[in-house]
Amino acid sequence: MYDHSDIVNDLFESQFREWPLARDNYGQLDSVRVRKIPFPGYEIAVQFNPGRIVSSAAMVDAGSIKARPCFLCEDNRPPEQRGVPFGSDYIILINPFPIFRRHLTIVNRAHTPQQIEGNFLSMLSMAEALPDFVIFYNGPQCGASAPDHLHFQAGNRGFLPVEMDAGNPGLSSTVASSGGIELRLWSGYGRGMLTLAGSDSRALDNAFTRFYNKFAATQPERPEPMLNMLAYHSAGRWTIHIIPRRLHRPSCYFAAEPGRILLSPASVDMGGVFITPREEDYIKITAADISSILEEVCLSDGEVKSLTEGLL
Ligand SMILES: [Zn+2]
Repeated sequence: MYDHSDIVNDLFESQFREWPLARDNYGQLDSVRVRKIPFPGYEIAVQFNPGRIVSSAAMVDAGSIKARPCFLCEDNRPPEQRGVPFGSDYIILINPFPIFRRHLTIVNRAHTPQQIEGNFLSMLSMAEALPDFVIFYNGPQCGASAPDHLHFQAGNRGFLPVEMDAGNPGLSSTVASSGGIELRLWSGYGRGMLTLAGSDSRALDNAFTRFYNKFAATQPERPEPMLNMLAYHSAGRWTIHIIPRRLHRPSCYFAAEPGRILLSPASVDMGGVFITPREEDYIKITAADISSILEEVCLSDGEVKSLTEGLL
């Protein structure tokens, strides 16, 4: 897919001229507060971002979803929101409630359920066409606030700690390679994680499908196995970080005050930036809270290892 960078830069410029809400929300990112919390070998950033309450506290049960107009369908989008086509099936929109300085939502033209099966190659095309962005996918039970409408998001590169951490040999290492692609496993990163990398999109898709099928067998009651994914492309190679999940929201999300932490982890959090829409949570969250949230919602290193045995 050809490079869409110029088209997307133009989209941001014109939307900032024409859509005050978006311009203001991106402007407010300049004053967003961030704390860095150290862990052995890496850091987690905590971002206080009140605009994200809509997403973090979204009701995503089937009844609530059915009762609301879908905000990703063209008919219901804000009149100021314009999009540019990506291929024949997707529209690139700017996300009006940003976490990143450049934050996109890439929506399917059709109101069709959020699912990665059959759409993994689309994500790779997006990563190739938007080399300045990380493309990410939140499963329907892993942070997608529109589980009924297929979409990806994208944020500017250089923001998520996982990009830098991926270069740290103390955190991940290649455990198998075959047909020009490789499998990397992470350890001691607080969240069980695997990474596929390589230049052959078909081989990556095949490896992902094998992983998906094996993982799906362990969660037969789910619409799809629970996961978040982050993908980017540079120097002809894709890197895809896959974070399998066991739980949508951690117990602290449902706890009574004052113990409650309103944090609904998704790809950005898995990439190392925890989003707290409430100031009290931003102030009080500790390293121990972060560790226990990740432990609750993610798989262990050992579980990921056994799911990937014989993958390549
Ligand atoms: Zn829709």
